[in-house]
Amino acid sequence: MILDGKAVSNKILEKLKDKIEKFSIKPHLVVILVGDDPASKIYVKNKKAAAEKVGIRSSILELNSSISEEELLGKIKDLNRDPDVTGILVQLPLPSHIDKNKVVETISPKKDVDGFTPENVGRLVIGLEPYFYPATPQGIIMLLDEYGIQLEGADALVIGRSNIVGKPMAQMLLRRNATVTQAHSYTKSLEDKIKTADIVVSAVGKKIVRCKMVNKNSVIIDVGIFRDANGKLTGDVDFDLISPEVKYITPVPGGVGPMTIASLMYNASKVYH
Ligand code: NAP
Repeated sequence: MILDGKAVSNKILEKLKDKIEKFSIKPHLVVILVGDDPASKIYVKNKKAAAEKVGIRSSILELNSSISEEELLGKIKDLNRDPDVTGILVQLPLPSHIDKNKVVETISPKKDVDGFTPENVGRLVIGLEPYFYPATPQGIIMLLDEYGIQLEGADALVIGRSNIVGKPMAQMLLRRNATVTQAHSYTKSLEDKIKTADIVVSAVGKKIVRCKMVNKNSVIIDVGIFRDANGKLTGDVDFDLISPEVKYITPVPGGVGPMTIASLMYNASKVYH
């Protein structure tokens, strides 16, 4: 069965729109874009369009790639103090002279819609409620919940350990009482681990989950998105071979991608004072 991220995302966004319509003060998301990386420009434009669709005010703060780190941190501090701004998102990557960690640390945890600040990550790990959960793992949990997939007691394998997907995904599954294995490029016998897991979340960026590795009860979540040798958008999972063999699977595109947008908009609708 295909886990239809597009349909679930649309449903969430519709509900969110109805909810935001009733807000007396509309949330205001500021997206900071440093430099003119074409891919980043598209991502930022898409985020703004998604926000506007659900009634979230959004602004793009475009900054020259020559901006100093200090100046950028100053702009973020101004936005932290601005009561009219409820969410701040810094589009990555940043120019090499700017320390990404310093930038993330500077964002107020109560406006950190990406859920990347040390306070939000720390709260996630120690079992406190973060102000925001990172969008992609949160979107995946929303999708699994929508289809009633049991997480409690499930053997979950997360392939990848990035700060934006792999690590928070593992923590969120752990919070839901799954038994989590975190795999990465040094992991031995990955095939066996994939075969015995109830839930596999693959966040690598190359073809990693192939036929014969899965079992008929597997739930396969494909986070990866990249272009193959023919320029076609694809994921980490060999979808054509694997989809008939497993219980649930997400397609690429149309799976985790739209859920990330819905989840980000859910975050951007939150207002803390
Ligand atoms: P990343 O930072 O590049 O991390 C990739 C991870 O994969 C690393 O932890 C790496 O291990 C691991 N890895 C590499 N080769 C491996 C192998 N042979 N076996 C097991 N693990 C291996 O990537 P990311 O930012 O998490 O993104 C991963 C993919 O998801 C990319 O395709 C990205 O475009 C996509 N993505 C999609 C969405 C969405 O909304 N659909 C959102 C975010 C990301 P090491 O740590 O040992 O190097």
